Amino acid sequence: MTEQAIEINDIANIDPHLDYQAIVIGAGVSGIYQIKRLADLGVRATVLDANADLGGTWYNNRYPGARFDSESYTYSYSFSKEVLDQWNWTERFAPQPETLAYLNFVTDKFKLRKYMQFGCRVESMIFDDDKNTWTLRLDDGRQLTTRFIISGVGVLSTPTLPKLEGMDSFKGTSFHASHWPHEPIDLKGKRVAVIGSGATAIQLIPEVAKVATRLTVFQRRANWAAPLNNAPISESEMAAIRERYDDIFAACARSPGGFEHEPDRRGFYDVSPEQRRELWDRLYDEPGFGIWLQNFTEIFFDEKANAEFSAYIADRIRQRVNDPALAERLIPKDHGFGIQRVPLETGYFETYNRDDVELVDSAETPIVRITPTGLDTSDGSYEFDVIIYATGFDAFTGAFDHIDIQGAAGERLRDKWATGPETYLGTMVRGFPNFLMLVGPQTAASNFPRGAELSVDWVTPFLEHMWAHGHQRFDVDEAAETQWIEHVKDMYKGMLLRNARSWFTGYNSNLEGHEYGKMRYNIYNGGGPRYAKMLRDVADNDYEGVYFK
Ligand code: NAP
Repeated sequence: MTEQAIEINDIANIDPHLDYQAIVIGAGVSGIYQIKRLADLGVRATVLDANADLGGTWYNNRYPGARFDSESYTYSYSFSKEVLDQWNWTERFAPQPETLAYLNFVTDKFKLRKYMQFGCRVESMIFDDDKNTWTLRLDDGRQLTTRFIISGVGVLSTPTLPKLEGMDSFKGTSFHASHWPHEPIDLKGKRVAVIGSGATAIQLIPEVAKVATRLTVFQRRANWAAPLNNAPISESEMAAIRERYDDIFAACARSPGGFEHEPDRRGFYDVSPEQRRELWDRLYDEPGFGIWLQNFTEIFFDEKANAEFSAYIADRIRQRVNDPALAERLIPKDHGFGIQRVPLETGYFETYNRDDVELVDSAETPIVRITPTGLDTSDGSYEFDVIIYATGFDAFTGAFDHIDIQGAAGERLRDKWATGPETYLGTMVRGFPNFLMLVGPQTAASNFPRGAELSVDWVTPFLEHMWAHGHQRFDVDEAAETQWIEHVKDMYKGMLLRNARSWFTGYNSNLEGHEYGKMRYNIYNGGGPRYAKMLRDVADNDYEGVYFK
């Protein structure tokens, strides 16, 4: 009998004095699957979520235009054939309501809601060095004890706002895009400002422009973007997708980013400029991230290759924007295509051809204050009814920093991570025993559910291993963590993204310590397959680098 075949009742009866054997934080994509696996084992576990309902990112981000830029069917959980058979995606890139409905469908199908507690924010979690347990304090005043904590807090779940004078004085409506109001907000007849030009802004700007009386976009830096090329999925297409699911997930597992798109393995310089253009013409009109991920790998490493490709995309933008001067302002000049996370768009560039849409260059004329009726830039005043902040997130570490996490000997995680995350395999942190992370910092950047399933499918047998051996505590070897961090850093070497002002490198102008140049090694750049193999190897070697008690 393998360790994994441990009797369910045996597991359920371990640690009866604790409130739970395992607590999962976050009822998003990763937390839902994690609680399914724990429930299947009969573990006394719960999921805590600060929101009023499940869904995480897809619960919060309700702005118009919010949708996947992963192909819907590659975003499906792969663990249940029944779900794959029953769920129909209606669009190649599903809109937010459909994704949220999907997550609810999966949760209800497996009756997981009973394990979830909503509206409770974890304020602190403190490790008891003698008892090898965690005590969590929630904002509703409760204290809970558990042996293990598994964080499923997401990567981009802590929005950041600019620090501008007068923000509270604004008399109209203002919010961060990821806190789009749940009650319907009618932008018809409204003068609207959008601050930011990242993936969120690029999705919502065309939709807001369709209804607002006037839209003003405050862009500090232009962002490369390429067409999403979305389309409905017919019933017959869905049937064909269903037949292909095994192949789809196999392709995702082979690709560096967890998508169906696999890089073009021909060398950039082994083909002629005409052949490169042929590829790019094709990819530009194809759906999804092909233009980024089915491209020559040189665009990620080689300045010259990247510059040639960026010039190609710049020309495509020029073809779509009527005013040549405006087109130039929409073409990034400070970084090449694809070294920041590429937003995919639907009619984004054409939106600027409208008479009621204005682009303000916030680098040249910065916003200096928010006023009761709008905002002032260094160049003049603007009046607005609504201000939408699409100003990004405290990526990767933000959600952890908001919890007072104290590990062995009282060490605080936010201190340990003050200059950037330090982990072992993106899954554990030395000095924080019995704490596991799903898609934590320093995991391979990937199509999220693919990474989430990989995490959960590693964490769950790891816990089974602990229970099977009667271990009460694990921690990470110092050398193993150091080696992993060095490997993560090595994987940034040579990559053009190393110089990007992007959440991949920890840049966020609204956060102290996240200034440009203060490199934070947030992601594992070695690609999904290599990362998955390393996880497998560690497990196969009796969890090398981890010690048990
Ligand atoms: P983001 O890419 O970090 O963009 C934030 C934008 O706000 C940038 O244009 C930034 O300008 C601007 N900004 C921030 N603070 C500012 C300030 N104080 N004054 C003026 N401008 C300011 O954030 P995001 O657009 O929310 O996207 C983050 C990530 O979320 C994406 O990369 C993507 O991974 C994910 N996302 C995914 C989807 C999807 O899957 N469909 C959709 C949306 C987002 P600077 O560049 O000058 O700092």
